[in-house]
Order: sequence, then structure tokens, then C-alpha cells
Amino acid sequence: CGIVGYVGAQSALDVVIAGLKRLEYRGYDSAGVAVLADGGLAAAKKAGKLLNLEKELVDRPLPSGSTGIGHTRWATHGAPNDANAHPHLDNAGRVAVVHNGIIENFAALRAELAERGHDLASDTDTEVVAHLLAEEFSSCGELTEAMRLVCRRLDGAFTLVAVHADDPDVVVGARRNSPLVVGVGDGEAFLASDVAAFIAHTRSAIELGQDQVVELRRDGVTVTDFDGAPAEVRSYHVDWDASA
Ligand code: GLU
Repeated sequence: CGIVGYVGAQSALDVVIAGLKRLEYRGYDSAGVAVLADGGLAAAKKAGKLLNLEKELVDRPLPSGSTGIGHTRWATHGAPNDANAHPHLDNAGRVAVVHNGIIENFAALRAELAERGHDLASDTDTEVVAHLLAEEFSSCGELTEAMRLVCRRLDGAFTLVAVHADDPDVVVGARRNSPLVVGVGDGEAFLASDVAAFIAHTRSAIELGQDQVVELRRDGVTVTDFDGAPAEVRSYHVDWDASA
């Protein structure tokens, strides 16, 4: 339901949690975060209010890192419980993905992944994406290209945002029939399902077009289509009142 991604110099966890709070008005049933830190990936997720997640983070703090993603879920596939909350990880725990929308061909993809030995830990349509990203990453070594390859195999409506521990300074987003906006700051960049998540940090935004993939780094943003062709970037200034 709500998505936030961050890469920069600040604590990703702080930026992501604050962003998720700005999206709370949309309603949700669970929440979760993942950060890249110390060469690895750390995640926490909890059913219920963001407060439950924040309590979990006090009891079991995540290492501090400056690349991260977060999600508030409105369940469509699988009960609203901890296991089905996003982010979803691959079996090696190196890639994490959050998703808004529905992957319509998830059942076929799940069966295919199970046949190749993947162990699926949730009942969601989303989890297949984490496993597919891990597979594609192991052959191309680049999260953005892995995302393009995976998106070409998905049917349905989706906003996807992912991080990979072996591509640590990058956050990748993709969209089809579901919104995703980029915030461009000074030495930092943001991704969100709604600009409300990042207007406290930047008013410089890019609206991602249909079937596009965006790569966020501290020093810039690159947008392509699912085939890797450069896309026209639609920048604009967010001028509505932040307190609204
Ligand atoms: N279909 C996904 C799920 O049920 C994403 C739901 C959402 O948009 O929050 O987990």
C-alpha cells in the first residue's frame, strides 16, 4: 500500500520510517523495513500498526545503514501476519523487495521456483519477485538489470522497490499500473508511492512512467524502460503545502 526507498547519507531506517508515517493515512495491516549495512541485509516486519514495527526495532535493533526500503501492506494474497508482511527476501537473504499491487501470474512462477529448489516462506504473490531477482542477479550481477528482466516476466499491476546486499549503493524501483515517484535530493534520492513520504527532504520530483525502471544512487537517478532503453524523465516541483 505504501512504499518508501532511500539512498544517501542519512540513516535509511529513520528516513523510511518517517516516510511510512506520512503514508499511514492510506490504511494498512502490516509494515516492514530492510536496510543494507556491513555488507549484509537486515530486515524487520510486523503485522499491525507501525508502532508494532517500531517496538520490534527497539527490541531487536537493525544495524545502521544509508540504503533502505520500507512498506505498509494492504493484503491481497495471504493473511495479514508477520510472515506475509513485506519486505520479502530470497533464500540467501541478500535481496529484499516491497510491492504494491497484484502479480497475476504468481502461481505459475511459484511452481517454477519451487521446482528449481526455492523455498517460499509466505503466501503472498510478492515473494516470487525476491527469488526471481536473486536468480537474475546471480547471472547479470546488477540489480537494475535483474529488475528489468524480472518485470518482463510479470503480469498484473505492480510497484516494486528492491535492494541487494551485493549492489549496496543502489535502490531500484519499477512500475506498471501502480504509482511510483522519485525524489531527487542533494547527495540523496528517495522513492515513494506518494510524494508525501519525502517532501520533508526534497521538492524535486520525477514521476515514473508506465513500464519503467529507476535506479537510485546518491549522485543521481537513471530511468529506462523494461528493455533498458533510456526513458524520457518527467521532472517537476512539488509545491503543495507539506502540512496538508
Ligand atoms: N499483493 C501484495 C500482498 O498481498 C501487496 C499488497 C499491497 O499492495 O500492499 O502482499
